Amino acid sequence: MEEKKCKNCMFYKKTIYSKGECFRYPPQLVLDPETGSANPARPMMEEDDFCGEFKSEKLIQEIGDLIMKAFSGDIGGEDGRSV
Ligand code: SF4
Repeated sequence: MEEKKCKNCMFYKKTIYSKGECFRYPPQLVLDPETGSANPARPMMEEDDFCGEFKSEKLIQEIGDLIMKAFSGDIGGEDGRSV
């Protein structure tokens, strides 16, 4: 089973070194205390970190592949019925 880590999550986009942005939710406004302006930002996560919203990118891909096979008739018994 795939390890529960941001780097294996479908919402993670690697940016630099061992860090990446989480796209699970829309950006949040973060106040810059120096300028007083609010700027949109996403959580910057370490690739080995995780949260309770983790969704395995590999599992989602496997499920998608199975659905595509089912619609194309690639799975099922010789009589065409599911096994
Ligand atoms: S595990 Fe959580 S914090 Fe990390 S990328 Fe996925 S949703 Fe974001």
